[in-house]
Order: sequence, then C-alpha cells, then structure tokens
Amino acid sequence: MKKKRIDLGGYRVQMQEQSPEKRIKNFQSVPLGYSKKEVVKEAKRCLQCKGIPCELDCPINMKILEMIREIAIENFEKAFFIIKEDNPIPAITGRVCPQEAQCEGVCPLYQRGHGINIGKLEAFVADWARMKGIKEKFQIEEKQQKVAVIGSGPAGISCAVDLRKFGYQVTIFEALHKAGGVLQYGIPAFRLPTEIVDYEISYLDEIGVDIRLDFFVGQNIKFSELRNEYDAIFIGTGAGAPLFINIPGENLKGVYSANEFLIRVNLMKAYKFLEFDTPIVCGETIGVIGAGNVAMDAARCALRLGVEKVYILYRRTKKEAPARDEEIQHALEEGVVLKELISPNKFIGDDKGWLKEVELFKMELGDTDASGRPRPIKIEGSEFVLKMETIVEALGSMPNRLFLNKAPELEVNKWGQIKVDDNLMTQIPGVYAGGDAVRGNATVILALGDGRQAAASIHKQIEQHKAET
Ligand SMILES: Cc1cc2nc3c(=O)[nH]c(=O)nc-3n(C[C@H](O)[C@H](O)[C@H](O)COP(=O)(O)OP(=O)(O)OC[C@H]3O[C@@H](n4cnc5c(N)ncnc54)[C@H](O)[C@@H]3O)c2cc1C
Repeated sequence: MKKKRIDLGGYRVQMQEQSPEKRIKNFQSVPLGYSKKEVVKEAKRCLQCKGIPCELDCPINMKILEMIREIAIENFEKAFFIIKEDNPIPAITGRVCPQEAQCEGVCPLYQRGHGINIGKLEAFVADWARMKGIKEKFQIEEKQQKVAVIGSGPAGISCAVDLRKFGYQVTIFEALHKAGGVLQYGIPAFRLPTEIVDYEISYLDEIGVDIRLDFFVGQNIKFSELRNEYDAIFIGTGAGAPLFINIPGENLKGVYSANEFLIRVNLMKAYKFLEFDTPIVCGETIGVIGAGNVAMDAARCALRLGVEKVYILYRRTKKEAPARDEEIQHALEEGVVLKELISPNKFIGDDKGWLKEVELFKMELGDTDASGRPRPIKIEGSEFVLKMETIVEALGSMPNRLFLNKAPELEVNKWGQIKVDDNLMTQIPGVYAGGDAVRGNATVILALGDGRQAAASIHKQIEQHKAET
C-alpha cells in the first residue's frame, strides 16, 4: 500500500520553552534549546529537496542541506564548519532570522504546518561548538593595509571577520560602550542571550580585530581624518534614529521612543536599578505603538518590568503585523494584548506633565498600499480614550544625522540612507557601506551579507591597486 504523504517528514520536534508565567519574571532565554536526541530527530525529517528551496531563499545562501545532513548523523562539528563558511554569527541568526519568511517558509513541509526548524538547528550547532570551545580554523597571512569599520553591529562584525581572514589590519570604531549594535542594545536577552553576543565580540578580539569603544566617528575623529589614515573604510552605522508619530502631547513625560526604552532596559540594565544606575519609569498601563519585532520586544520587556497591562496598539490587524511569528506568539502567550485597527490621535497629560490618557481613532482597512499591505484608514468621529501612563513608539528608525552631518561628502537619499553601487561602494572611492545605514530598517542576515560583500569588494580593490602600482 502507498504510504500516506502526511507521514513524509512527520511532525516538527517541539522545543521546550520556559512557561509564560515563569518567563515574564526573568530575562533568560525563552526557548530552552534542543537536546542531542531531539536535534537529530528534527534533522532526520528533512526531505533533502533537490531544488534546495531553503538555500535559495536564504539571503546569504547558507549550505542548509549539508548542515542538516551532518546533524542527522550527529556530526555537529562538521555541521558547524559548514555554516561558518557563509555565516560568522550562526548562534545569532539561528535565533533572530525571520525564518518563516525565508528558508523555513519555502520548506515543502511548512505548508503542512511542520517545516524543518532550520533556525533552531543552526543555533544548536553554534551553541554546541561554543560550549566545546570549537572554533573555525584559518591561517591569517598578515597584510599591511589598514581598514576602518565604523559600527559594530552585524554588518560591521561580518565585514571585520572577513577582512581579518584576508589579512588586513582592522579597527572597529563603536560609539557605544559595548560592541554589538542592535544585537547588544535592542534585541532583549530573552530572545538573544547577552553571553552569545559577548562571545562573538570576544572572537573578534581573538582574531586580532582592534575594537575602540566609546568612539564616535565624526566626533572623536573627523571622517576626513579617518579617510586619510586608512586604506579603506566600511560604514555600518545602522539606522539608530527613531521616527516619531508627531501628534500633540508627544513631549509628555512617559512617552518613549522604542530606542530609548530598549537601550535603558537592555544595554543599561534598568531592570536591575539600583544595582545599575539607569532607572526606567513605567505606569500600570503601557501602550506600544507598532507591531514589528521592535514593538514586540518593548512590550515583552514591559511585562518583565512588572507592568500590569501591556497593549500593542496597531493600525492594521495581526495578519499584517511585520514581527516574526514566534515573537507575536510569545508576546500573546505572555499576556500582551494586541489591540488591532486603532491609531493614536493625541496624548493627554496631567498638570505635572505626565502622560495619563491616549486618545485613539478606530481604523479600517482599504486598498493595497506601497508596502503591499491593506491601507489603514481613519474612521472619522470614532475617537475614544484609554487610560495609559506610558507609551513606547516603535514606528521604525532612520540613519542617524549626527554622523551624516559630520560626513557631508557622503551621498544619501531622502531618508538619509547612504547611496552605494553594486559593490557597496559609496560615491567616494575606497569608502563602502552596508546594513541598515544603506537599507533602512532591515534584518540581521541582510546586514551580515552586506558586511561580507563589502569585505570582498575592499579586498578586490586593494589587490587591484597593488597590481597597478
Ligand atoms: C529592537 C529590535 C529588534 C530587532 N529584531 C530583529 C530580529 O528579530 N531579526 C532580525 O533579523 N532583525 C531584527 N532587527 C533589525 C536588525 O537588528 C538590524 O537590521 C541590524 O542590527 C542592522 O545591523 P547594522 O550592523 O547595519 O546596524 P546596527 O546593528 O544598528 O549597528 C550599528 C552600530 O554602529 C554604531 N554607530 C553608529 N554611528 C556611529 C559612529 N558615527 N561612530 C561609531 N559607531 C557608530 C552604533 O552605535 C551601532 O552599535 C531588530 C532591530 C531592533 C531595533
């Protein structure tokens, strides 16, 4: 008798997680990771499709099938070396990539609700290697040329790693007191444990990348001076300037940008105030405007700070929410309430200048807009008021003018994103850029891919220059 198709691949091996009741009281990782037995079982479900859809849909075309094949036969070390060929930070991408929109989304088993859990397999091998102290093996043939990398987010990290492998003398300049960019200050530790980010940064140190912290290019050194001192420059300065909603009452105390809110919580450890110096003031009810990863992160941090009622205020519906599926699911399990089809109209304060209420419009959905989603339309006369002492605006961000104003020679578009050619070179020869500084709000894997591409372009340019002189 013919085997039923549903048996093919079987069901996804579920990952153990901290229970919602327990995890909202801590900042530790929500997923608890696969055991060896579980990871092998999950890998064995892979159909090893000939058309490699998962690899083709991965923005950096990681060798996913080869990795899974090795996991299935418990050869974790080989699996680790295979992913490291394309991805310097698999423990991070395995945890934060929007897999359902990439590799896992095109897995034939996904349509049946049981796509291969590629992200968690990737994170498993990277964690396994970290715990065993296994590192990528390569020889560095030292070269004299110096390359400056501005910014230590995923774009800067991947560019620096590849440049070191080529043998260049690499210095990363980072404005903050800790390296890692959004991985360090934006994504909370319950999604991306801090020790994993710290491990990747210490690896940079080990392979000889010089990291200068608290060093703002444009302030501590002029961009023009950097250009004179270095043979090439990579700009990976991200998109750290928040966008605001621009409605009355936005200056009230209690209204935060998601950037400030998350930096206070994650980087400055406000949840450990008084042990750490930075406080954070939240009322009983908090509204987070937006429904992307940033909004979910802010809402889930608020729960962990002990806020009683946490609302996501979204002008579309859950179906259109841009956050990763897992983040939405985790947020809702934890007690975050998603209020759909509403949009703030004004913030109302008390006589001491603190937010006390928010007036909102009800919304409806219209035709498709430029983002490919239904256009949210205000329903006139539908205003209503909700009591709320804290608002976090998670409406996206753009490249920071603080840097761009100090480097006016760089060409940018109307959103302040740096213009680059196909090789990621700006209009200034020898100056390259990538990640969110070029793309606006994008993803870790795209930033990482840009860093790698820019490193290859820089290497090619330096080699060509050598050949010509
Ligand atoms: C809260 C939050 C959650 C997110 N969640 C996800 C997710 O789940 N999955 C996903 O794929 N993506 C997610 N993203 C997006 C992702 O983190 C970014 O796309 C990615 O970090 C961009 O990398 P980058 O290297 O270009 O910039 P960044 O990570 O922003 O790093 C830029 C670095 O440059 C430094 N810098 C800026 N200017 C200067 C200067 N003049 N001198 C020196 N240093 C400077 C900054 O301090 C920063 O450290 C999230 C973003 C946020 C904010």
